[in-house]
Amino acid sequence: MLPDYDLVILGAGAAGLATAIFAAETAAQRQRALHIAVLDSAKKIGAKILVSGGGRCNVTHDEVRPDDFNGSRTIIRNILAAFDAQATVRWFAALGVPLKREETGKLFPVSDSARTVVAALLRRCDELTVPILTQHRVSDLTVEQSGLFVLQHEQGTYHARRVILATGGKSLPRTGSVGSGWDIAKRLGHSVTTTVPALVPLVLREKMFHAQLAGISLPVELATFVTGKVVDRRVGSLLWTHFGVSGPVVMDVSRHWTLARAHGHAVELRCNFFPGRDFPQLEKWLLETASARSRVSLRRALGERLPDRLAEALIQWSGIEGEAILSQLTREQRRVLVHSLTNFLLPVERDRGWNFAEVTAGGVPLEEINFRTMESRLVKGLSLVGEILDCDGRIGGFNFQWAWATGYVAGRAVAASV
Ligand SMILES: Cc1cc2nc3c(=O)[nH]c(=O)nc-3n(C[C@H](O)[C@H](O)[C@H](O)COP(=O)(O)OP(=O)(O)OC[C@H]3O[C@@H](n4cnc5c(N)ncnc54)[C@H](O)[C@@H]3O)c2cc1C
Repeated sequence: MLPDYDLVILGAGAAGLATAIFAAETAAQRQRALHIAVLDSAKKIGAKILVSGGGRCNVTHDEVRPDDFNGSRTIIRNILAAFDAQATVRWFAALGVPLKREETGKLFPVSDSARTVVAALLRRCDELTVPILTQHRVSDLTVEQSGLFVLQHEQGTYHARRVILATGGKSLPRTGSVGSGWDIAKRLGHSVTTTVPALVPLVLREKMFHAQLAGISLPVELATFVTGKVVDRRVGSLLWTHFGVSGPVVMDVSRHWTLARAHGHAVELRCNFFPGRDFPQLEKWLLETASARSRVSLRRALGERLPDRLAEALIQWSGIEGEAILSQLTREQRRVLVHSLTNFLLPVERDRGWNFAEVTAGGVPLEEINFRTMESRLVKGLSLVGEILDCDGRIGGFNFQWAWATGYVAGRAVAASV
């Protein structure tokens, strides 16, 4: 039986499109005919890219290090080294999408529009005559004895020499990423680690004061304790919302919370509203302020360092009278207050779920692929790229960088080997 395609890429998200482009370009450079198709269940391609970065698409970050990711760091390092942030900048410039750096180090299209990213990727596929077949949801993938892959999709069956799984994880399922690639990989013998929402806002218990603080954003230090041990500590911006907490630092730590919960471990998020200052330093500051300004109210003193509404909420939370004079606090009151200010237990009830998650933590273990080619170590001729793999980056363009880099490695390798 002759295959319909040399290569079928399953999923036309960031990773699938990048893989298709790099495979087709490599084949063209080698003057080889490579019959490729990209299959996607969605009706319209690019939905997730379009909503990314608030509609501006944070394409990458000017400094990308393995430490910016969770997963097997040595393997991640090797993959990122093959296609780094500078390579992404050059690639996008060649695609007609120049990038600009923002103060945070995040890189966005100069156009400030994710549409230009989707349009450029689709245009390049078109130039390379790579068809993107929409409404082609694949329900099963098997390997015949001949080594050919058989793909059952909603319009029929295709046979292919090589298949690349680029089906993503489960974040924002309405874009088509429903986790079906994991089932396909599992049926072919791969394992899948526990998968949970990551880069996701967190819901606080109702009796907390978050709703009255909605809209306030401030730098904090967040420490994550799992079964009593610190697994992560980072400083960044926290945003109070009507449901709980969000903002970059919360999004970044959320994967530790969701994963610990999924594993049934006790997990706590502790917040220091004075990043860089510990309990003794803050207590010393309060004592010094009290002796220098004996009539100053607690609300006023704290309000000079924290947003007013938060200062007030923390004073109340500590069981202290709103109009209390700082110098008149008892030692016990002062210590309870300092504890609230430097080691505040965020009473997280749950995460906001897949519909609000930007990425997935967990997936197919990186140890099950060859990082030089992205080919499966278990199934010859199958490769995996992007979010389907057990690797998740922090907020800031790192997850797209993972999609481009894995697509580059897989696309070039497959074109060279078919
Ligand atoms: C709201 C939001 C904002 C984000 N912003 C950023 C950002 O600014 N910067 C950044 O770096 N990252 C961002 N991310 C993360 C980033 O978008 C993802 O990590 C990245 O898109 C993953 O790419 P992927 O190609 O691996 O998977 P996906 O983009 O999820 O693509 C998978 C594709 O496979 C298709 N598919 C799935 N199953 C099947 C099947 N059985 N048959 C056929 N097709 C199938 C799906 O329809 C989908 O099109 C954001 C994510 C979200 C949700």
